[in-house]
Amino acid sequence: MPLYNVDEPRELIDFTSENPLATWNELKANSDVNNSVKRAAFIKTGGLCIYCEHKLIPKLDYQIEHFHPKLGNDNSEFGDGVPNRAIEWLNLFPGCLGGTARKTEEVDHTERTGANKKNKSALTCGQRKEDKPVENNFISPELLSNDLSIFKFNESDGSISVDEQACGALGIDVRLASKHSQDLNLDSKRLRGIREKFSSILESEFNKAFEFAPDDIEGLINEWLALDEQGIHQHPFYSLIVSKYK
Ligand SMILES: [Zn+2]
Repeated sequence: MPLYNVDEPRELIDFTSENPLATWNELKANSDVNNSVKRAAFIKTGGLCIYCEHKLIPKLDYQIEHFHPKLGNDNSEFGDGVPNRAIEWLNLFPGCLGGTARKTEEVDHTERTGANKKNKSALTCGQRKEDKPVENNFISPELLSNDLSIFKFNESDGSISVDEQACGALGIDVRLASKHSQDLNLDSKRLRGIREKFSSILESEFNKAFEFAPDDIEGLINEWLALDEQGIHQHPFYSLIVSKYK
């Protein structure tokens, strides 16, 4: 999972110092703060969903994800000694809409829409996670590595499984990794389909390179994993690329 250090936006620092007990709704009602938080959080992962790593589309398939649940939009009571997680910069990540994006011409309908409460098997990521406590259920993004994937990817059907060795190297409990994947529905049919399509493009690019430019595979990997000048990844599924080629 790619995760980069991004400075807390000045607007949020000022807002938090003036309104330490603000709720998420109160933050969102301030458009300057809301916009700067959305812009800055987006580059924490180079524009990929913090959970499924699909490429986010601003305004269409993007929301702020609270890793520690924000306990509703109007709550900022997290108990004694616990920071106000509704507006805490370290708790805010970029996430997709978990399959519930609106149908518009710009979005791929099979990839990003159609999931809802009645079609729960397609719901993923934050939409699936809801307010479930993170302890013993989800891996904190900070524990994951940019250079090692805790999942293995099967390119023939896009499915994922836990990479026990990688978990061991990162000190992550294998059972927690399975729970994480299960509770975020990362192995759902919808995500499998998207990864399978991506894998076949990736594979054909790499096969060409193995044949015609075998000395520059490293360069090709770096190209697929690169950030552009705005700090955005041009390709989704960073961990899939890492797991397969790095
Ligand atoms: Zn996602």
